[in-house]
Amino acid sequence: MLITGAYFGRARWRWQWLNRQRLRDFQAAKAQQLIPWVAQHSAFYRQHWQGHDLRDWRNLPMVDKRLMMANFREFNTLEVPAAAAFDLAQQAEQERDFVPRLGDLTVGLSSGTSGHRGLFLLSPAEQLLWVGTILARTLHHIKPTKIAFFLRANSNLYQQLGGRLIQFRYFDLTQALEPQLAMLNTYQPTIIVAPPGLLLQLLAAAQNGKLTHRPERMISVADALAPDEQTQLSTFFGIPIEQIYQATEGLLAISCAHGSLHIQEDLVALDFEDLGQGRVTPYVTDLWRRTQPIIRYRLNDVLRLSSQACSCGSSFKVIEQIEGRRDDICYFTAHGQRQAMFPDSLRRAILLAHPAIQEYQIIQPADDQLQVRLTITDTADATLVSTAVEQQIQRQLAEYGCSAYHLSIHFAAIDYGTLNKRRRVIRQ
Ligand SMILES: [Zn+2]
Repeated sequence: MLITGAYFGRARWRWQWLNRQRLRDFQAAKAQQLIPWVAQHSAFYRQHWQGHDLRDWRNLPMVDKRLMMANFREFNTLEVPAAAAFDLAQQAEQERDFVPRLGDLTVGLSSGTSGHRGLFLLSPAEQLLWVGTILARTLHHIKPTKIAFFLRANSNLYQQLGGRLIQFRYFDLTQALEPQLAMLNTYQPTIIVAPPGLLLQLLAAAQNGKLTHRPERMISVADALAPDEQTQLSTFFGIPIEQIYQATEGLLAISCAHGSLHIQEDLVALDFEDLGQGRVTPYVTDLWRRTQPIIRYRLNDVLRLSSQACSCGSSFKVIEQIEGRRDDICYFTAHGQRQAMFPDSLRRAILLAHPAIQEYQIIQPADDQLQVRLTITDTADATLVSTAVEQQIQRQLAEYGCSAYHLSIHFAAIDYGTLNKRRRVIRQ
Protein backbone atom coordinates (compact mmCIF):
# COMPACT_ATOMS: atom_id res chain seq x y z
CA MET A 1 0.00 0.00 0.00
CA LEU A 2 2.97 2.30 0.66
CA ILE A 3 4.10 2.37 -2.97
CA THR A 4 0.51 2.63 -4.20
CA GLY A 5 0.28 5.62 -1.86
CA ALA A 6 3.15 7.34 -3.67
CA TYR A 7 1.41 6.85 -7.02
CA PHE A 8 -1.83 8.04 -5.42
CA GLY A 9 -0.16 11.22 -4.17
CA ARG A 10 1.49 11.99 -7.49
CA ALA A 11 -1.75 11.41 -9.38
CA ARG A 12 -3.52 13.90 -7.08
CA TRP A 13 -0.75 16.40 -7.55
CA ARG A 14 -0.88 16.16 -11.37
CA TRP A 15 -4.65 16.61 -11.31
CA GLN A 16 -4.36 19.89 -9.42
CA TRP A 17 -1.16 21.25 -10.93
CA LEU A 18 -1.42 20.57 -14.65
CA ASN A 19 -3.24 23.37 -16.47
CA ARG A 20 -3.53 23.37 -20.28
CA GLN A 21 -0.02 24.62 -21.03
CA ARG A 22 1.68 22.55 -18.34
CA LEU A 23 -0.29 19.55 -19.56
CA ARG A 24 0.96 19.99 -23.14
CA ASP A 25 4.53 20.28 -21.83
CA PHE A 26 4.09 17.31 -19.52
CA GLN A 27 2.76 15.13 -22.36
CA ALA A 28 5.55 16.23 -24.70
CA ALA A 29 8.23 15.48 -22.09
CA LYS A 30 6.78 12.02 -21.36
CA ALA A 31 6.50 11.22 -25.08
CA GLN A 32 10.08 12.34 -25.76
CA GLN A 33 11.28 9.78 -23.20
CA LEU A 34 8.90 7.06 -24.28
CA ILE A 35 8.98 7.04 -28.08
CA PRO A 36 12.75 6.48 -28.65
CA TRP A 37 12.69 3.80 -25.94
CA VAL A 38 9.81 2.01 -27.68
CA ALA A 39 11.56 2.26 -31.06
CA GLN A 40 14.48 0.48 -29.44
CA HIS A 41 12.51 -2.23 -27.62
CA SER A 42 9.49 -3.05 -29.80
CA ALA A 43 10.31 -4.67 -33.13
CA PHE A 44 6.84 -3.84 -34.42
CA TYR A 45 6.99 -0.10 -33.74
CA ARG A 46 10.58 0.15 -34.98
CA GLN A 47 9.46 -1.23 -38.33
CA HIS A 48 6.17 0.71 -38.30
CA TRP A 49 7.90 4.06 -37.75
CA GLN A 50 10.65 3.61 -40.30
CA GLY A 51 11.31 6.84 -42.18
CA HIS A 52 9.31 8.95 -39.69
CA ASP A 53 10.60 11.69 -37.42
CA LEU A 54 10.14 10.32 -33.90
CA ARG A 55 10.14 13.83 -32.42
CA ASP A 56 6.95 14.55 -34.37
CA TRP A 57 5.19 11.89 -32.29
CA ARG A 58 1.67 13.24 -32.73
CA ASN A 59 1.93 12.49 -36.45
CA LEU A 60 3.38 8.99 -36.30
CA PRO A 61 1.44 6.35 -38.27
CA MET A 62 -1.52 4.92 -36.41
CA VAL A 63 -2.04 1.41 -35.07
CA ASP A 64 -5.26 -0.37 -34.15
CA LYS A 65 -6.44 -3.55 -32.47
CA ARG A 66 -6.07 -5.61 -35.63
CA LEU A 67 -2.42 -4.59 -36.06
CA MET A 68 -1.69 -5.06 -32.38
CA MET A 69 -3.21 -8.53 -32.16
CA ALA A 70 -1.71 -9.68 -35.48
CA ASN A 71 1.78 -8.68 -34.32
CA PHE A 72 1.39 -9.15 -30.58
CA ARG A 73 4.78 -10.74 -29.92
CA GLU A 74 6.75 -8.01 -31.70
CA PHE A 75 4.37 -5.33 -30.45
CA ASN A 76 5.06 -5.88 -26.75
CA THR A 77 8.56 -5.21 -25.48
CA LEU A 78 9.01 -8.53 -23.65
CA GLU A 79 8.20 -10.64 -26.71
CA VAL A 80 5.33 -12.42 -25.00
CA PRO A 81 3.50 -14.48 -27.64
CA ALA A 82 -0.25 -13.86 -27.93
CA ALA A 83 -1.11 -17.55 -27.57
CA ALA A 84 0.58 -17.87 -24.17
CA ALA A 85 -1.10 -14.73 -22.84
CA PHE A 86 -4.49 -15.72 -24.28
CA ASP A 87 -4.39 -19.22 -22.81
CA LEU A 88 -3.49 -17.87 -19.41
CA ALA A 89 -6.14 -15.15 -19.39
CA GLN A 90 -8.84 -17.53 -20.61
CA GLN A 91 -7.91 -20.18 -18.10
CA ALA A 92 -8.12 -17.52 -15.40
CA GLU A 93 -11.60 -16.51 -16.51
CA GLN A 94 -12.83 -20.08 -16.55
CA GLU A 95 -11.40 -20.97 -13.16
CA ARG A 96 -12.63 -17.65 -11.76
CA ASP A 97 -10.45 -17.61 -8.66
CA PHE A 98 -7.12 -17.86 -10.34
CA VAL A 99 -4.79 -14.89 -10.42
CA PRO A 100 -3.20 -14.80 -13.85
CA ARG A 101 0.45 -13.92 -14.01
CA LEU A 102 3.03 -14.56 -16.64
CA GLY A 103 6.27 -14.18 -14.73
CA ASP A 104 5.53 -10.98 -12.85
CA LEU A 105 3.20 -9.63 -15.55
CA THR A 106 -0.53 -9.24 -15.11
CA VAL A 107 -2.41 -10.58 -18.10
CA GLY A 108 -5.97 -9.70 -18.99
CA LEU A 109 -8.57 -9.76 -21.72
CA SER A 110 -10.73 -6.78 -22.58
CA SER A 111 -14.49 -7.22 -22.52
CA GLY A 112 -15.08 -7.01 -26.26
CA THR A 113 -17.26 -9.35 -28.27
CA SER A 114 -15.78 -12.82 -28.69
CA GLY A 115 -13.07 -12.98 -31.32
CA HIS A 116 -12.42 -9.28 -30.88
CA ARG A 117 -11.11 -9.28 -27.36
CA GLY A 118 -7.89 -7.40 -26.79
CA LEU A 119 -5.06 -8.65 -24.61
CA PHE A 120 -3.24 -6.55 -22.09
CA LEU A 121 0.02 -7.02 -20.25
CA LEU A 122 1.04 -4.89 -17.29
CA SER A 123 4.29 -4.90 -15.35
CA PRO A 124 4.16 -4.59 -11.54
CA ALA A 125 5.07 -0.87 -11.76
CA GLU A 126 2.39 -0.26 -14.38
CA GLN A 127 -0.11 -1.99 -12.12
CA LEU A 128 0.78 0.23 -9.20
CA LEU A 129 0.43 3.32 -11.35
CA TRP A 130 -3.00 2.10 -12.45
CA VAL A 131 -4.15 1.35 -8.90
CA GLY A 132 -2.78 4.60 -7.47
CA THR A 133 -4.30 6.73 -10.21
CA ILE A 134 -7.70 5.09 -10.21
CA LEU A 135 -7.94 5.52 -6.43
CA ALA A 136 -6.72 9.12 -6.54
CA ARG A 137 -9.22 10.04 -9.22
CA THR A 138 -12.26 8.14 -7.94
CA LEU A 139 -11.98 8.57 -4.17
CA HIS A 140 -12.57 12.26 -3.95
CA HIS A 141 -12.51 12.26 -0.15
CA ILE A 142 -10.30 10.04 1.94
CA LYS A 143 -12.59 8.18 4.31
CA PRO A 144 -13.52 4.55 5.05
CA THR A 145 -15.09 3.20 1.89
CA LYS A 146 -16.61 -0.13 0.94
CA ILE A 147 -16.57 -0.88 -2.74
CA ALA A 148 -18.67 -3.57 -4.44
CA PHE A 149 -17.15 -4.37 -7.80
CA PHE A 150 -19.10 -6.39 -10.39
CA LEU A 151 -16.70 -8.01 -12.84
CA ARG A 152 -16.74 -10.88 -15.28
CA ALA A 153 -13.46 -12.12 -13.86
CA ASN A 154 -11.52 -11.11 -10.82
CA SER A 155 -8.02 -9.96 -11.64
CA ASN A 156 -5.06 -9.32 -9.41
CA LEU A 157 -5.26 -5.83 -10.88
CA TYR A 158 -8.43 -5.28 -8.88
CA GLN A 159 -7.41 -7.26 -5.82
CA GLN A 160 -4.66 -4.75 -5.21
CA LEU A 161 -7.27 -2.09 -4.66
CA GLY A 162 -7.99 -3.37 -1.15
CA GLY A 163 -6.41 -1.76 1.90
CA ARG A 164 -7.12 -0.66 5.44
CA LEU A 165 -9.35 2.31 4.68
CA ILE A 166 -10.79 0.83 1.55
CA GLN A 167 -12.61 -2.45 1.61
CA PHE A 168 -13.18 -4.11 -1.66
CA ARG A 169 -15.52 -6.96 -2.55
CA TYR A 170 -15.72 -8.72 -5.86
CA PHE A 171 -19.13 -9.71 -7.22
CA ASP A 172 -19.22 -12.20 -10.06
CA LEU A 173 -21.11 -11.00 -13.14
CA THR A 174 -21.53 -14.56 -14.36
CA GLN A 175 -23.49 -15.61 -11.26
CA ALA A 176 -27.23 -15.22 -10.63
CA LEU A 177 -28.19 -11.78 -9.35
CA GLU A 178 -30.67 -12.77 -6.63
CA PRO A 179 -28.17 -14.08 -4.01
CA GLN A 180 -25.87 -11.16 -4.76
CA LEU A 181 -28.67 -8.71 -3.94
CA ALA A 182 -28.84 -10.20 -0.46
CA MET A 183 -25.07 -9.82 -0.19
CA LEU A 184 -25.31 -6.17 -1.22
CA ASN A 185 -28.00 -5.56 1.40
CA THR A 186 -25.74 -6.99 4.11
CA TYR A 187 -22.41 -5.64 2.88
CA GLN A 188 -23.81 -2.10 2.46
CA PRO A 189 -21.20 -0.82 -0.02
CA THR A 190 -20.50 2.91 -0.20
CA ILE A 191 -19.77 2.58 -3.92
CA ILE A 192 -21.10 0.10 -6.48
CA VAL A 193 -19.01 -0.32 -9.60
CA ALA A 194 -20.64 -2.30 -12.44
CA PRO A 195 -21.42 -2.33 -16.16
CA PRO A 196 -24.52 -0.26 -17.02
CA GLY A 197 -26.55 -3.40 -17.82
CA LEU A 198 -26.05 -4.61 -14.26
CA LEU A 199 -26.76 -1.16 -12.77
CA LEU A 200 -30.11 -1.24 -14.57
CA GLN A 201 -30.85 -4.67 -13.07
CA LEU A 202 -30.05 -3.18 -9.66
CA LEU A 203 -32.47 -0.36 -10.43
CA ALA A 204 -35.23 -2.88 -11.19
CA ALA A 205 -34.37 -4.78 -7.99
CA ALA A 206 -34.51 -1.55 -5.98
CA GLN A 207 -37.87 -0.66 -7.51
CA ASN A 208 -39.40 -4.02 -6.57
CA GLY A 209 -37.90 -3.95 -3.08
CA LYS A 210 -35.31 -6.71 -3.44
CA LEU A 211 -32.41 -4.29 -3.19
CA THR A 212 -32.94 -2.21 -0.08
CA HIS A 213 -29.43 -0.80 0.25
CA ARG A 214 -28.78 2.61 -1.31
CA PRO A 215 -25.11 3.28 -2.17
CA GLU A 216 -23.60 6.76 -1.92
CA ARG A 217 -22.10 6.43 -5.36
CA MET A 218 -22.50 4.31 -8.49
CA ILE A 219 -19.83 4.01 -11.14
CA SER A 220 -20.55 2.61 -14.59
CA VAL A 221 -17.72 0.66 -16.26
CA ALA A 222 -16.93 -1.66 -19.18
CA ASP A 223 -19.67 -0.43 -21.52
CA ALA A 224 -21.09 2.89 -22.69
CA LEU A 225 -23.75 4.37 -20.43
CA ALA A 226 -26.55 5.93 -22.49
CA PRO A 227 -27.89 9.34 -21.36
CA ASP A 228 -31.42 7.98 -20.84
CA GLU A 229 -30.03 5.20 -18.64
CA GLN A 230 -27.96 7.69 -16.70
CA THR A 231 -31.08 9.79 -16.07
CA GLN A 232 -33.17 6.79 -14.98
CA LEU A 233 -30.53 5.63 -12.53
CA SER A 234 -29.66 9.00 -11.08
CA THR A 235 -33.32 10.00 -10.70
CA PHE A 236 -34.16 6.88 -8.73
CA PHE A 237 -31.03 6.69 -6.57
CA GLY A 238 -30.71 10.45 -6.18
CA ILE A 239 -27.00 10.49 -7.06
CA PRO A 240 -25.03 11.32 -10.21
CA ILE A 241 -23.95 8.18 -12.08
CA GLU A 242 -20.21 8.32 -12.63
CA GLN A 243 -18.18 6.55 -15.28
CA ILE A 244 -14.78 4.98 -15.79
CA TYR A 245 -13.86 4.70 -19.45
CA GLN A 246 -11.04 2.25 -19.91
CA ALA A 247 -9.99 -0.35 -22.41
CA THR A 248 -7.04 -2.55 -23.25
CA GLU A 249 -5.61 0.67 -24.56
CA GLY A 250 -5.49 2.28 -21.15
CA LEU A 251 -7.33 4.22 -18.50
CA LEU A 252 -8.92 6.88 -20.67
CA ALA A 253 -11.40 8.90 -18.64
CA ILE A 254 -12.91 9.09 -15.14
CA SER A 255 -15.80 11.16 -13.77
CA CYS A 256 -14.76 13.90 -11.34
CA ALA A 257 -16.56 14.91 -8.15
CA HIS A 258 -18.70 17.25 -10.27
CA GLY A 259 -19.80 14.40 -12.52
CA SER A 260 -17.86 15.29 -15.69
CA LEU A 261 -16.06 12.51 -17.52
CA HIS A 262 -12.49 13.87 -17.72
CA ILE A 263 -9.92 12.42 -20.09
CA GLN A 264 -6.93 11.35 -17.96
CA GLU A 265 -4.58 13.52 -19.94
CA ASP A 266 -1.60 12.94 -17.68
CA LEU A 267 -1.84 9.22 -18.52
CA VAL A 268 -2.94 9.33 -22.14
CA ALA A 269 -2.50 11.90 -24.89
CA LEU A 270 -5.52 11.79 -27.17
CA ASP A 271 -5.68 13.11 -30.71
CA PHE A 272 -9.00 13.21 -32.49
CA GLU A 273 -10.17 12.40 -35.98
CA ASP A 274 -13.17 14.53 -36.88
CA LEU A 275 -16.09 12.37 -38.04
CA GLY A 276 -18.41 15.33 -38.67
CA GLN A 277 -21.62 16.32 -36.84
CA GLY A 278 -19.61 17.03 -33.69
CA ARG A 279 -18.31 13.47 -33.37
CA VAL A 280 -14.70 12.34 -33.09
CA THR A 281 -12.69 9.13 -32.89
CA PRO A 282 -9.74 9.14 -30.46
CA TYR A 283 -6.16 8.11 -31.18
CA VAL A 284 -4.58 7.09 -27.89
CA THR A 285 -0.98 7.45 -26.83
CA ASP A 286 -0.43 5.96 -23.39
CA LEU A 287 2.38 8.03 -21.90
CA TRP A 288 3.44 5.45 -19.33
CA ARG A 289 3.06 1.90 -20.55
CA ARG A 290 6.21 0.24 -21.79
CA THR A 291 5.42 -3.48 -21.57
CA GLN A 292 2.74 -3.08 -24.23
CA PRO A 293 3.26 0.37 -25.73
CA ILE A 294 0.09 2.03 -27.00
CA ILE A 295 1.09 4.80 -29.37
CA ARG A 296 -1.24 6.53 -31.85
CA TYR A 297 -3.71 3.69 -31.36
CA ARG A 298 -7.03 4.27 -33.08
CA LEU A 299 -10.02 3.28 -30.99
CA ASN A 300 -13.27 2.12 -32.53
CA ASP A 301 -15.28 4.56 -30.40
CA VAL A 302 -17.38 7.54 -31.39
CA LEU A 303 -17.19 10.36 -28.83
CA ARG A 304 -18.73 13.75 -28.38
CA LEU A 305 -16.46 16.16 -26.52
CA SER A 306 -17.64 18.96 -24.28
CA SER A 307 -16.64 22.48 -25.24
CA GLN A 308 -17.14 23.72 -21.67
CA ALA A 309 -14.60 23.72 -18.87
CA CYS A 310 -15.72 21.73 -15.84
CA SER A 311 -16.75 23.58 -12.69
CA CYS A 312 -14.37 21.36 -10.67
CA GLY A 313 -11.48 23.48 -11.99
CA SER A 314 -9.55 20.67 -13.69
CA SER A 315 -8.10 21.48 -17.12
CA PHE A 316 -8.45 17.88 -18.28
CA LYS A 317 -10.81 17.72 -21.27
CA VAL A 318 -14.34 16.43 -20.76
CA ILE A 319 -16.15 13.77 -22.80
CA GLU A 320 -19.81 14.64 -23.19
CA GLN A 321 -20.83 11.17 -24.33
CA ILE A 322 -19.40 7.87 -25.53
CA GLU A 323 -21.83 7.19 -28.35
CA GLY A 324 -20.93 3.77 -29.65
CA ARG A 325 -18.66 2.09 -32.13
CA ARG A 326 -17.31 3.63 -35.26
CA ASP A 327 -17.92 0.33 -37.09
CA ASP A 328 -21.62 0.77 -36.33
CA ILE A 329 -22.11 4.08 -38.10
CA CYS A 330 -24.97 3.48 -40.56
CA TYR A 331 -25.19 4.89 -44.07
CA PHE A 332 -28.06 6.21 -46.14
CA THR A 333 -28.29 7.95 -49.48
CA ALA A 334 -29.18 11.63 -49.44
CA HIS A 335 -29.18 13.75 -52.60
CA GLY A 336 -27.12 11.08 -54.34
CA GLN A 337 -24.46 11.17 -51.60
CA ARG A 338 -23.59 8.62 -48.92
CA GLN A 339 -24.74 10.11 -45.62
CA ALA A 340 -23.44 8.88 -42.25
CA MET A 341 -25.97 8.31 -39.49
CA PHE A 342 -24.38 8.00 -36.05
CA PRO A 343 -25.59 5.15 -33.84
CA ASP A 344 -26.77 7.60 -31.21
CA SER A 345 -29.09 9.44 -33.63
CA LEU A 346 -30.84 6.17 -34.47
CA ARG A 347 -30.96 5.20 -30.80
CA ARG A 348 -32.64 8.46 -29.91
CA ALA A 349 -35.20 8.03 -32.69
CA ILE A 350 -36.25 4.69 -31.17
CA LEU A 351 -36.30 6.02 -27.62
CA LEU A 352 -38.49 8.96 -28.58
CA ALA A 353 -40.90 6.79 -30.57
CA HIS A 354 -42.94 5.11 -27.84
CA PRO A 355 -42.75 4.69 -24.03
CA ALA A 356 -43.70 0.98 -24.29
CA ILE A 357 -40.33 0.13 -25.86
CA GLN A 358 -38.25 -1.72 -23.28
CA GLU A 359 -35.30 -2.86 -25.34
CA TYR A 360 -34.28 -2.65 -28.95
CA GLN A 361 -31.67 -3.47 -31.52
CA ILE A 362 -31.08 -1.70 -34.81
CA ILE A 363 -29.29 -3.61 -37.54
CA GLN A 364 -28.10 -2.25 -40.84
CA PRO A 365 -27.26 -5.14 -43.21
CA ALA A 366 -26.41 -2.76 -46.08
CA ASP A 367 -26.68 0.93 -46.99
CA ASP A 368 -30.28 2.26 -47.03
CA GLN A 369 -31.61 -0.74 -45.12
CA LEU A 370 -32.64 -0.92 -41.51
CA GLN A 371 -33.97 -3.77 -39.40
CA VAL A 372 -35.39 -2.83 -36.02
CA ARG A 373 -36.06 -5.40 -33.29
CA LEU A 374 -38.18 -4.31 -30.38
CA THR A 375 -39.14 -5.67 -26.98
CA ILE A 376 -42.28 -3.93 -25.73
CA THR A 377 -44.40 -4.12 -22.58
CA ASP A 378 -47.04 -6.90 -22.46
CA THR A 379 -49.97 -4.52 -22.59
CA ALA A 380 -48.72 -2.37 -25.47
CA ASP A 381 -50.35 -2.33 -28.91
CA ALA A 382 -47.70 -3.61 -31.32
CA THR A 383 -49.24 -1.89 -34.35
CA LEU A 384 -49.21 1.48 -32.61
CA VAL A 385 -45.60 1.07 -31.48
CA SER A 386 -44.57 -0.08 -34.94
CA THR A 387 -46.18 2.95 -36.60
CA ALA A 388 -44.59 5.30 -34.07
CA VAL A 389 -41.13 3.84 -34.75
CA GLU A 390 -41.64 4.12 -38.51
CA GLN A 391 -42.62 7.77 -38.19
CA GLN A 392 -39.78 8.64 -35.87
CA ILE A 393 -37.16 7.03 -38.11
CA GLN A 394 -38.67 8.70 -41.15
CA ARG A 395 -38.45 12.07 -39.37
CA GLN A 396 -34.85 11.44 -38.29
CA LEU A 397 -33.73 10.40 -41.78
CA ALA A 398 -35.65 13.22 -43.47
CA GLU A 399 -33.59 15.70 -41.44
CA TYR A 400 -30.58 14.45 -43.34
CA GLY A 401 -32.39 14.36 -46.66
CA CYS A 402 -32.73 10.57 -46.81
CA SER A 403 -36.08 9.34 -48.07
CA ALA A 404 -35.49 6.13 -50.04
CA TYR A 405 -34.72 3.32 -47.63
CA HIS A 406 -36.10 -0.02 -46.56
CA LEU A 407 -37.24 -0.46 -42.97
CA SER A 408 -38.47 -3.65 -41.30
CA ILE A 409 -39.69 -3.92 -37.72
CA HIS A 410 -39.88 -7.14 -35.71
CA PHE A 411 -40.89 -7.89 -32.16
CA ALA A 412 -38.63 -10.14 -30.13
CA ALA A 413 -37.43 -10.66 -26.58
CA ILE A 414 -34.02 -9.00 -26.48
CA ASP A 415 -31.75 -9.66 -23.56
CA TYR A 416 -28.19 -8.42 -23.78
CA GLY A 417 -27.17 -9.93 -20.45
CA THR A 418 -24.46 -8.26 -18.42
CA LEU A 419 -21.35 -9.99 -19.74
CA ASN A 420 -20.86 -8.45 -23.14
CA LYS A 421 -21.09 -4.94 -24.41
CA ARG A 422 -24.62 -4.13 -25.49
CA ARG A 423 -24.52 -3.36 -29.17
CA ARG A 424 -27.85 -1.69 -29.78
CA VAL A 425 -26.87 -0.46 -33.21
CA ILE A 426 -25.04 -2.89 -35.48
CA ARG A 427 -23.74 -2.17 -38.93
CA GLN A 428 -22.99 -5.49 -40.63
ZN1 LIG B 1 -14.60 18.09 -13.35
